Amino acid sequence: MRVNTTTQNYFIDNIKTYNKLKRMKKYNFYAGPSILSPFAINETAKAVQNFAGTGLSILEVSHRSKEFQAVVDEANALVKELLDVPEGYEVLFLGGGASLQFYMMPLNLLKTRAAYLETGTWASNAIKQAKFVGEVEVVASSKDKNFTYIPKGYTVPADVDYFHYCSNNTIYGTEMLETPNVSVPLCADMSSDFLSHPVDVSKYDCIYAGAQKNAGPAGVTIVIIKKDKVTKEGLPTMLDYQTHIKKGSMFNTPPCLPIFTVLQTLKWYKELGGLKALEQRAIEKSTMLYDEIDRNKLFKGTVVAEDRSRMNVCFVMNEEYQELNDAFFKFASERGMVGIKGHRSVGGFRASLYNAMPKEGVEALVACMKEFEATI
Ligand SMILES: *Cc1c(COP(=O)(O)O)cnc(C)c1O
Repeated sequence: MRVNTTTQNYFIDNIKTYNKLKRMKKYNFYAGPSILSPFAINETAKAVQNFAGTGLSILEVSHRSKEFQAVVDEANALVKELLDVPEGYEVLFLGGGASLQFYMMPLNLLKTRAAYLETGTWASNAIKQAKFVGEVEVVASSKDKNFTYIPKGYTVPADVDYFHYCSNNTIYGTEMLETPNVSVPLCADMSSDFLSHPVDVSKYDCIYAGAQKNAGPAGVTIVIIKKDKVTKEGLPTMLDYQTHIKKGSMFNTPPCLPIFTVLQTLKWYKELGGLKALEQRAIEKSTMLYDEIDRNKLFKGTVVAEDRSRMNVCFVMNEEYQELNDAFFKFASERGMVGIKGHRSVGGFRASLYNAMPKEGVEALVACMKEFEATI
């Protein structure tokens, strides 16, 4: 009988734990590293045990093996397919983060002068690094209002090597959805809205994106580079795009595991219907949250409405409710919302709605905001 009771308790406890876990389902709103699809996580977990039927873990397989080469080749082909990358471009998988590209990209493409748009911390960092290479003209900045808008009506000189901008400002929650209409080649840091909508790649000399926002885990950066623009001689080997173009991202050991997870993510994006379908999802999810921010008496958005990001939604408590900031954070955390604390330079809250965030997650956050409002 004792055994039975214990067994019974065991089941009851398990059900309780299960129910509790169900109630405490976590929604990951972190800005980066950030949410990945269950598909990418499961496939990665399986490959850590047994990679491509090799009987070995992907963690211990040579990057020169045919199985891993197939991963890089397929990831390369899928980036090209999803973004409809035209002939003449190469897709690279590099280490060093988007932060290395702030320097590496100008090192390869800046000959005399480049134009930059300053729309946030990352754009400022890119400007700072480009200045190590050549002359930089900042054509406009929204620093005057803590980067709460995207500058418009600026002029880009016709004689610059390129115009660089950051398509989505992760920290401040602004986004440039339209490709800027300028007469010079474009270069862009697309780290946090990469693969969230179609882009006309033919207008760019270089696009780069750290994977850990919308394309995979930390450790790999995707670079799309127009091959005939990479002509500088005498650059340090590892910082020369030509090295990596020639060797198909395999000059040295690439970040194997992150690349594998990026591939799974790309497969899942294709399965969902590609970038048009993902854009539709992003519009639905972000509209749902912005509508609630605008409706709810407690909250307000932090950036001008026309420049609101679909990926990083920043909001704060209205002035008269400022003292409820921590209370709402606690309330939301207790209901499974993870990573909604705003960046220190904005305060309040930031919910990142990358591709892998299900609509259900946004509904849960909206429900939380309504529920909290009802307690006031
Ligand atoms: C996160 C982020 C970066 C920095 O990426 P690292 O991989 O950490 O170097 C650069 N630009 C944007 C837009 C980002 O969101």
